Amino acid sequence: MVRCPRRGKSSRDTSRTRSIARIRRLTADAQIPALLAYARHGRPYLREGRGYLYLNQTRSLDSPERVIWKVGETKNLGRRRKQYDACDVITQHRWFLAFHVQKRLLAERIIQLSFLSQSAGGERVRFDRRCPCGHRHREYVYFPNGKSVDDVVAIIFDALALLGETNFTIKRLD
Ligand SMILES: [Zn+2]
Repeated sequence: MVRCPRRGKSSRDTSRTRSIARIRRLTADAQIPALLAYARHGRPYLREGRGYLYLNQTRSLDSPERVIWKVGETKNLGRRRKQYDACDVITQHRWFLAFHVQKRLLAERIIQLSFLSQSAGGERVRFDRRCPCGHRHREYVYFPNGKSVDDVVAIIFDALALLGETNFTIKRLD
């Protein structure tokens, strides 16, 4: 295998990174089938592995009447929750569910794209600057058409089904 001299990565890694970068330039609706096709060939998505997806909700800082949602991924749910608890800026988190899955990175991405798809109608909410707590709070979504927890969980189930994640376990968070 040829090594890429600059990054010390293999050329195969570099071509994967390029394929993923190309997919990221598509619309949310186009990215979903493109990523599924990419993964169908057995190629790993980033540094893939099993772990948790978590669903929580908070209030938009700019418009506190707006509920915003997030699905994130982690290998260590306890540590990730402590990071949230340590934040003094975004404090109104409600936690719902965690899903233990085999491919947490691809699953996180497909779910986030599903939230932004035309059928779900979600809008990305950006917290661009690094928060004083030391983290960036990214990947929140606002649904202008309003969504219940059940609606949001249904989108997650559909995304996991698309991925063939059939043996996931669910944990209630509160
Ligand atoms: Zn913070």
